[in-house]
Amino acid sequence: MNYRRIGILLVIVAVFSLLAGCNGISPATDGKNLPMTVAVTTTVVPISNPAPALPAQPATTNVTIPPTAAPPGKFLIFFPWPNGEQWEFVTGFHDEGAMDFVNFNAKKAAVSAVADGTVLLSDYSHPDDFNTWPKGGRGSTIPDMGNFVILKHGPDIYTVYMHLMHEDLAPVTPGQDVRAGTRIGWQGNTGWSHGAHLHFAVVDVQIFPSPSFIEKPKESWGFIELNGSNAIVLNAKYTSRNVVPP
Ligand SMILES: [Zn+2]
Repeated sequence: MNYRRIGILLVIVAVFSLLAGCNGISPATDGKNLPMTVAVTTTVVPISNPAPALPAQPATTNVTIPPTAAPPGKFLIFFPWPNGEQWEFVTGFHDEGAMDFVNFNAKKAAVSAVADGTVLLSDYSHPDDFNTWPKGGRGSTIPDMGNFVILKHGPDIYTVYMHLMHEDLAPVTPGQDVRAGTRIGWQGNTGWSHGAHLHFAVVDVQIFPSPSFIEKPKESWGFIELNGSNAIVLNAKYTSRNVVPP
């Protein structure tokens, strides 16, 4: 996917949002001092694959990172769906570090923030029948992202969620703070998408001077799992242990 081109188009979307009366890119999102709430000072132990299914956990208002370790600087995140749900990792890593997850079991499957953060962009302008597959060639433009959300979690750390189901009232809007586990959308099939799924990636977003985003190296982040993280395997099923925000 041509992310520099997407980035340029993101700005067009942001400007359009401003014109449309939305918040656009909030000044609060372009600073370098957003609070980081994810522990990054532990060590990672590779897990056996696939990861064992975890039992559903009771709702809590606290985001707690287990003391399993990650190397200094490692960004640990929850899976991008509600606590206790099981999704499948399909199609492998693509566009460098992006991943496709599918919930095959639910007609309407919630997509959740993977960590505390702030909404940078939220585009819910496309109806559910808006699908660019396979028309128009390889997905490389803003429309091919379908409905999408980008969250900022700290300096140079963002997550992107694509192909979301349309909602008349966007569940999150630019500038809004979210907690890990906050619902930011529903799994959908908008944009360059061949069947309902979630396209997810941890990215760097450069807003100035030339907006763009690229995937973070897989080694720099990992999913929080009972026995470790970042040992994601194609076609394996993973169960989230997200906390549920109030
Ligand atoms: Zn994808």
